[in-house]
Amino acid sequence: RRKWNRMVGVLGEFEEGCSTSIGRLRQVVDAMDVEMHAGLASEGGSKLKMLLTFIDNLPNGNEKGNYYVLDLGGTNFRILRLQLGDERSMILRHDVEQPIPPAFMTSTSEDLFDFIASSLEQFVEREANSSDLPLVKRRELGFTFSFPVKQTSVSSGILIKWTKGFSIEDMVGKDVAECLQQAMIKRGLDMRVAALVNDTVGTLALGHYHDEDTVAAVIIGTGTNACYVERTDAIIKCQGLLTNSGGMVVNMEWGNFWSSHLPRTSYDVDLDTDSPNPNDQARGFEKMISGMYLGDIVRRVILSMSHELDILGMLLLVIGTLYLENLCGPVVNYRIWKLDDPYELHSSASLFHRKWRTPLMAVMHEDDSPDLREVARILKDTLKIPDVPLKVRKLIVKVCDVVTRRAARLAAAGIVGILKKIGRDGSSGIMSGRTKNGGESSGKMRRTVVAIEGGLYVRYSMFREYLNEAVAEILGEEIAPHVILRVSEDGSGIGAALLAASHSSPS
Ligand code: ADP
Repeated sequence: RRKWNRMVGVLGEFEEGCSTSIGRLRQVVDAMDVEMHAGLASEGGSKLKMLLTFIDNLPNGNEKGNYYVLDLGGTNFRILRLQLGDERSMILRHDVEQPIPPAFMTSTSEDLFDFIASSLEQFVEREANSSDLPLVKRRELGFTFSFPVKQTSVSSGILIKWTKGFSIEDMVGKDVAECLQQAMIKRGLDMRVAALVNDTVGTLALGHYHDEDTVAAVIIGTGTNACYVERTDAIIKCQGLLTNSGGMVVNMEWGNFWSSHLPRTSYDVDLDTDSPNPNDQARGFEKMISGMYLGDIVRRVILSMSHELDILGMLLLVIGTLYLENLCGPVVNYRIWKLDDPYELHSSASLFHRKWRTPLMAVMHEDDSPDLREVARILKDTLKIPDVPLKVRKLIVKVCDVVTRRAARLAAAGIVGILKKIGRDGSSGIMSGRTKNGGESSGKMRRTVVAIEGGLYVRYSMFREYLNEAVAEILGEEIAPHVILRVSEDGSGIGAALLAASHSSPS
C-alpha cells in the first residue's frame, strides 16, 4: 500500500510540475509576445526565427484557373492540380503521391530535382491524355518545401539545412526554387515556380481563401509551427520593406520558442537529453506540444511510477519496456539516431513508430467506458499484457491526460501570444484592432480567425477540446466569442496552389 501511494505520489508530483494555471499561461502569452518582438527586431534576436515570406497578399476567393503543386516535405512527395472556379469553387483534378527513392535523398541536387521534374513531366503528360484541361501557355506551380529556408522572394529561397533524413550537401545555400526551375527547363517542361511555400503559410492561405478574417495559422501534428500576418513597419530587422498591403506573412518557426515560464519537468529534461537534437532549449516548445514527443513523455512517467512497485512494478516495467518497443520505436533506435545524426531523425521506419504512438495514447486517453475496456484491449492486444488491474489502467489514463492537457494549453497560450502581438487579444485598449494597413479601427473587437491543421488537433478530440477551452479561458468571455479557431486541412497542398494563383504572372 505504501508503495502504491508512492507511485501515486510520482504522478501527483508530475501533475504539479505540469501546472498550466491561468497565471502561468498568461506568462507564456507575454513571453511569446516579447520573443516575437525580439525576433522581428534583429536577426538572431530571439529563438523565434520570425522568417520573412514575402507574401503580402493572401488568396481571397477571386483566384481562377488551373494551378499545380509540388509538395516535398518528407519521405513522400505529392503532385496535384487544382482547378479554381467562381465563388470559391475548387476541384482537385489530379493528385499523386509517391515515395522518394532513398538514394535520391542523399545524392546530388541535380539527381533529386531531375527525378522530381521527370515525375512532374509524367504527371502533365498523363493529364494531357486524360483530361479536358484547356491548353495553357505556361503552367504555374506552388512549391511546398517543408525544410528550413531563408526566403529571398515569394518564389525563391536558400536552403539553410536539410532535415528528416535528407542530406544533399551541394544544395545547402542554394536557391531551391531555382534548382527545380532548372531541372524543369532541362526537360522542356513549361512550368514556373510562382510561389515557394512553407506548409504553415499554405494553411494560412487556405484559411484566408475561405475566410478573409484569418490572420494566423498553426500546425500541430508530428511537429508544430505557426505563421501570421505582420505589419511591415513592425519588421524592424528589414528596414524599408514595402508591400502593397502594408503587411507580410511571417513564418515564426515557433517549435523553437523557449521561456523559463514553460512548466518543465525532469521527464522533459531527460527526453531532451535523449533526443536527436539535445540542447536544453532546442525546440523546447515543440517537445512539450507535438505528436512526435507526447507518447514518449507518457512512457517516461509510467516507467518512473513503476519503479515504486514490486509486483505491479514488474508489470509496469514490462509495460514500460513494451511502450518503448511498440509505442515509441526501439530504444536502440533512439540511440542510433543520436549517434548517426545528432540533429534529425534518420530512419523513416523509426519515424513511423514515433508518429504512430501518440494516436494509440489518444485511444487510451479517450476510453470512456467505466471499466476502461479500450485501455485493457490495447494493453492486451498491442502490448501482450493481459489482466492489468483497473486501478493501474486508471493511472495510465491519468498520465495521458496530464501530458495532453499541458500540451494543448501551452499551444493555446502560444496562439493568444500571436493575437496579443497583433492587437487582437483585446488587451491593447478595449476592443480595438489594427486594420490591414496598420491603422486602428476603433469600436468593436474585430472578428479574428486562426486556421489550424495537423493530426494532433484534427484527430485527437481531447487535445482539441483542451486547446479550445484554454484559448477561451485566457481571452476571457468578452473577447473569446470574437476569436474563431477553424480547421483548414491540406494547406500544404491546396494552400500552395492558391498562393501560386495569387502570385502568378499574367500570361
Ligand atoms: P505531419 O505533421 O506528420 O505532416 P499530420 O498533421 O497528419 O502529419 O500529423 C500527424 C501526427 O499527428 C502524428 O505524428 C501523430 O502524432 C498525430 N496524430 C495523428 N492522428 C492522431 C490521433 N488519432 N490521435 C492523436 N494524435 C494523432
